[in-house]
Parts: sequence; C-alpha cells; structure tokens
Amino acid sequence: MKLNDPTLLHVDSYINGGWVAGKTRFAVTNPANGEVIAEVADLGSAEVTAAIDAAVPAQKAWAKRTAKDRAMVMRKWYDLVMANAEDLAVILTTEMGKPLAEAKGEIAYGASFIDWFAEEARRVCGDVLETPQADKRLLTFKQPIGVFGAITPWNFPIAMITRKVAPGIAAGCACVLKPAEQTPLSALALAELAERAGLPAGIMNIVTGMNAPAIGETMCADDRIRKMTFTGSTEVGRILMRQSADSVKKMSLELGGNAPLLVFDDADLDKAVTGAMMSKFRNAGQTCVCANRIFVQDGIYDAFAKRLAEATDALQVGNGMTDGVEQGPIINDQGLAKIKRHVEDAVGKGAILLTGGKPHALGGTFFEPTVLTEMTSDMQLFREETFGPVAALFKFNDEDDAIAMANDSEFGLAAYLFTENAARLFRVSEALEFGIVAVNTGIFSSEVGPFGGLKNSGLGREGSKYGIDEFLEIKFVCVGM
Ligand code: NAP
Repeated sequence: MKLNDPTLLHVDSYINGGWVAGKTRFAVTNPANGEVIAEVADLGSAEVTAAIDAAVPAQKAWAKRTAKDRAMVMRKWYDLVMANAEDLAVILTTEMGKPLAEAKGEIAYGASFIDWFAEEARRVCGDVLETPQADKRLLTFKQPIGVFGAITPWNFPIAMITRKVAPGIAAGCACVLKPAEQTPLSALALAELAERAGLPAGIMNIVTGMNAPAIGETMCADDRIRKMTFTGSTEVGRILMRQSADSVKKMSLELGGNAPLLVFDDADLDKAVTGAMMSKFRNAGQTCVCANRIFVQDGIYDAFAKRLAEATDALQVGNGMTDGVEQGPIINDQGLAKIKRHVEDAVGKGAILLTGGKPHALGGTFFEPTVLTEMTSDMQLFREETFGPVAALFKFNDEDDAIAMANDSEFGLAAYLFTENAARLFRVSEALEFGIVAVNTGIFSSEVGPFGGLKNSGLGREGSKYGIDEFLEIKFVCVGM
C-alpha cells in the first residue's frame, strides 16, 4: 500500500494513548485480490477492561473541559482527516474494496460528523422551567453519559466510527471501540490523527480483535460502560441488547434494512433510473440503505426495467484502486454466497434475469451487476437483505398495494419513492413505516439529517441535531427557595 504518510498505517491497538501489540495477530486481506495487507493485534477481554480502566478517569477530566475547548480539539481532528483524505481513502479501499472515488466520498462524509459535532458541542443547553410552586426553582442540566462502548461494521470503516465517536466526545464522553475485523486499519489511522489533534489519552480507545463475542460481552457486562452504540446486523444488535440488560445501559442500534424503492407511473423516468442506480449499486450494494426491493407501477415498469438494465450493464467492475471502476468486490465469500443464493432462489421461483446473475469473470468475490424482473413476495430476497449488486423488480398496480408490500418487512430503516405528484409524495411518505424516506433521490445521507430505523432496524438516531442527545443524560435539579 503506497501512502504519502506511511505513519498512518498502524497495526497495533490504541489504548490509553499508547499502541498495544498483544501476543497474537490476525491477518487483514484485500478483498480485491486476497493479498494479506497487515497483521493486526488480536486483543480480547483483558484489553477491553484495561481500556475501560483508562477511559473512566480520562472521561471525567474531559467532561470538565469547556465545550469550546473540546470543540477546538475536534476541529483540529477534522482538519487532519481532510488533509490526509487521500491516504485514508487508499487504506479504506485496500482493506474494504470500494472504489477509490467512493472511499474519498466516505472520508469527507465521515469527517463531516467531526466538524458538525464540534459545533453541536457548544449548543448543548439545559433549561430553566416554569415552576409550579412559588418556593421552588426547576432546572435541567444536560450531562455526558460517561464511558460508552462502540462496535462498528466493515462497510463504512470511517463514517460508522465518526458518526458515533464524534457526538460522544463532543458531549464529554470517552469510548472503547471495536472496529470490524475486516477493516481495523481505517480505525487505527483515525486514532493516529485524533492523537495528533490533541485528543487526550483514554478518550478514544480502539481495541482490535477477532473474538467479537468476547469483546462485546466484556463491554456489555461492565457497569462502568453506560451506553452501547452499535452498527451491524440485527442478530448481533439483539445479543448486545440482552447482554446490556443487567447493567441497564442506554442503547443506540443501527441494524439491518430491507429498503423498498417505489417508482410510480407519474415519476420522472430519468430521476428514477439515476436514483435507483445510486441507491442500489453504491458500495456494490453493501449498505444497509441500499434499495433491496424495487416496486414499479405497471405503466412505467417495462421502460424502467429496460433503462435500469442498460445502466447496470454499463457499470465497470474491478479493483477499486483502478481508475474508472464503479463496483469493487464483495467483502468475503460469505457475502458472495448469500447473493448467489438469493439470485438462484428467485430464478428458481420464476424471476427473469435481464442482466448479470452470476459471479464475475474476474473471479474472487466479484459479482456481476444484476437486474431481476418478475419478482414475487415468496422469494428469499423479499424478506432478507441481499447486501449485493442485485436490483430486484416487483410489479404493482395500485398505490395502497405498493405501500402494503413495502411495509411488509420486519425492517424499517430507509425507503425511497419516485413521483412527481405532490399529494402522493406526502401521502406515501407518511404511510411508509421507515425511519428515513428519500423522495426523488437515491442519496440522502449527510451529517445534518437524522439517520436511524424503526422496527428491527434499530433504536436511536445518529448525526443531525438529535445525534448528540444519545450521549447525554438529562438531570432535573429542583431548588427550594
Ligand atoms: P455484524 O456481523 O453484525 O458485524 C458488525 C460488528 O459486530 C463487527 O465489528 C463484528 O465483529 C461485531 N460482532 C459480530 N458478532 C458479535 C457479537 N456476538 N458480539 C459483539 N460484536 C459482534 O454485521 P456485518 O455482517 O458485518 O454488517 C452488515 C450488517 O450491518 C447488515 O445487516 C447491515 O444492514 C448492517 N448495517 C447497518 C447500518 C445502519 O446504519 N443501520 C449501517 C451499516 C451496516 P467482527 O468483524 O470481528 O465479526
């Protein structure tokens, strides 16, 4: 891996401001070619406890500093992330596989949370409440929740960390974070830059390791961790919630999705095709908000399917470091197997392949960008998130039916709709049981909009003016006069 600043590449964990090697290592590989790119410290429960030991006193001191002071450190961190964006993107693409241009986009997106929450830190305000008794005064203080545990996935190795850590440290908390085992290098590079920015030892601890269940359990079992924040599968989210019950921790969970994308006859076809391409094929379909089920009204169905298949056919697949590549590899064999299973199941039950449908000629975990039509609700893809480059088209006739099909899911993260009819826009947006509704666009994420889901897609909101609340407690102070 060629970096302008090779000192960004760390292979040891970052605990209490020091780099910890541990006794054993695990290999991080490049999903584009299977090459081992680093041997990273394989730590576990003992180091999580050591990190919590460090975080507790560090957090108390950090919380005593003024919000302005914390914001200035964060602002420096933001500047350093942006100044090193090229190198961070190379690290990200090499360990995760997404095209370099997308990786650069993620660095800017990830950094935006640091910038945003540095500003939000200064706008945390308690209240003076109108008193119901003349001899009392009522106030609220907003105070940091304390030390929090964070566990993040591989699909956004930078942004899923900053979306949690930035509001937390802005609020005056400290964290112990475990990154996904596929993508620890991006997390460690972020820690290096945070240290250069002046973040004190113990505030952001990164524990890398293969034994995620033990690491998670240690975090959840420790009373000193007052909150868990997690992005990943619903299954693991449930485990963490159960394990956190005894110490009654506050939870933020960003879990699985199964996003519907509705295209009505009155949609602008260009907007709908462009939006569907962006939503579906970004990160090779490996985002929790990728359109999984595309519902198209019968009047526009054939034209939409034809245009979508043409655009899908034109996608360049390859190593994300190669210029012009728009779709990289799937993260691992397990991911690839699920995509194959969904396509085979759909075709076996009558779906039609318009393009793609099998592993790519490049080999490894590359998969052809795929469009399926004539999908039905008895197919596996209808219920489960595919997490791959498969656009699955379902036909509908009536608005109410489309809404019912879209809502027929245990998940409720993101939904998309395409219509030029203003009344329908509001009607359908209100009826969709999802935390996020994107209208006439395939991309909605930013630091300003609240991100989070309903039902089995999770709890809480990240980013936005609401995101910092997840790391604050409200204290009620009643003063007798
Ligand atoms: P995952 O298996 O749940 O892994 C996510 C993180 O949890 C990784 O760091 C993993 O560690 C760790 N982990 C695994 N088992 C654990 C356990 N028993 N206890 C504690 N931690 C554990 O999810 P994934 O398959 O990598 O990621 C894809 C899923 O994440 C999809 O369902 C997707 O929808 C969801 N996602 C949601 C959002 C959102 O914002 N809602 C965003 C991105 C992804 P290891 O890497 O060491 O296994």
